[in-house]
Amino acid sequence: MNFKLINSSLPSDFETTMQAQLGADFILFEKALGTEPPVSIRLNPEKRAFDASALMKVPWHPEGYFLPARPVFTLDPVFHAGGYYVQEASSMILHEVLSQLIPAPRPLRILDLCAAPGGKSTLLASWMPPGSLLLANEVIRSRVSPLQENLERWGNPHTFTSSYDPEGFAKLNGFFDLVLVDAPCSGEGLFRKDPDAIREWSPEHVQLCAARQRRILAAAVKLVAPGGTLLYSTCTYNEVENDQNAAWLVEQQNLEYLEVKLPAEWGVVSRDSGYQCYPHRLRGEGFYFAAFRQTRGLPFRGKTGRYMSKLSDLKKREEAALADWVQNAEALFFLQRPDGTVLFGPNELWNDLMLLDTALPQGVWLREAGQFKGKDFIPAHSLAMSTSVAADWPAVELDRETGLRFLKKENIELPADTAKGWLLARHEGLNQGWMKNLGNRVNNYLPKDWRIRMDIREV
Ligand code: SAM
Repeated sequence: MNFKLINSSLPSDFETTMQAQLGADFILFEKALGTEPPVSIRLNPEKRAFDASALMKVPWHPEGYFLPARPVFTLDPVFHAGGYYVQEASSMILHEVLSQLIPAPRPLRILDLCAAPGGKSTLLASWMPPGSLLLANEVIRSRVSPLQENLERWGNPHTFTSSYDPEGFAKLNGFFDLVLVDAPCSGEGLFRKDPDAIREWSPEHVQLCAARQRRILAAAVKLVAPGGTLLYSTCTYNEVENDQNAAWLVEQQNLEYLEVKLPAEWGVVSRDSGYQCYPHRLRGEGFYFAAFRQTRGLPFRGKTGRYMSKLSDLKKREEAALADWVQNAEALFFLQRPDGTVLFGPNELWNDLMLLDTALPQGVWLREAGQFKGKDFIPAHSLAMSTSVAADWPAVELDRETGLRFLKKENIELPADTAKGWLLARHEGLNQGWMKNLGNRVNNYLPKDWRIRMDIREV
């Protein structure tokens, strides 16, 4: 990629605004846009993929690391197993912000309102106190599948997904302790990584984004419980989408602006309202965030109404059979859809999930455990990915090449003395999916949509 070319084609209105914002620093900013973007990953603390101690740390996240070069992530089985998330470093700062603002480790109800593809949701899932519930919502239907895949890979059974317009949550006013609005924006902070963001930028688009952000924020504010936290973030620099919206939240929506203390050496710039990451000040892209406390607001008063729509209990013997497939079965509930698919979730979230199911027309999506077919139970891929899967389920460690062939949904052979029946395919100790060893052949149960499409042999 020719970064100089990208730099020289910056829109002139954007340059003028940034010159006004940065003054003498503008030259450094422009120079930074002409350099290669850093590559960073955030490890999944629940999966402990590998020892990253030789890598350079992202200073503001305990699991964040820079990679010396960009590998082909598609060809890394550890990536497919949810061992890490490829995330731009600046946005990882939300971990520090949340740790400062919400230090008491009590279970929280969290909504990530604009969640796809799931970078912040996976960060929240790893940060949130035990017993919390995270609902990751994405209004654009085509973006829901990648969000669900990423959260399934991450494997935390306390995370759920939905697809509603922000106003669709109106019956949940005051329900959430923390709402994140990582808003759709003009994307100025991504210019270095994404030339399309440059092509789509215009002063009119900035105005349009700001108006949309206010609509989203207006709905989000009401969802925050009294005393709860609203976190607003964008990957842009302009004041219209950032500071002006933050000021509007304080002046028109009665929120209290919250400050955080960040070490000066991190290079994050404090603005009138909020904080800004610039690529010339730190190793990351442009990112803005601001945090607020709900000072007024109404507490949630909803009641559970109906039984989770159209779901039924399992038979006793089915529940008993499932106990072998999961860790700690007594901590989980199981429900069955009319098509026989078994869904599961943590018992401790039952009440909250019922409230969500009552308040939202389609409820939320629960994780699939599998399906009973006659006497056999066909486990779902999401169970293989989940930290709830039985740790002692028979597994076969595959080398990288065989692991990639499994992930390409090719047939693989196993040593003749391998146990028959359902097996977890594993690479470097991380589950890749299910196989069924029939003796004369091995069936690969990786979902078709998850398979690697690129040629694994040519790279
Ligand atoms: N939080 C995500 C992450 O960290 O991976 C990135 C979110 S992206 C900046 C903004 C998201 O808002 C997009 O997925 C987009 O589809 C969604 N969105 C677009 N229009 C929206 C609207 N009117 N209301 C709510 N979300 C919207």
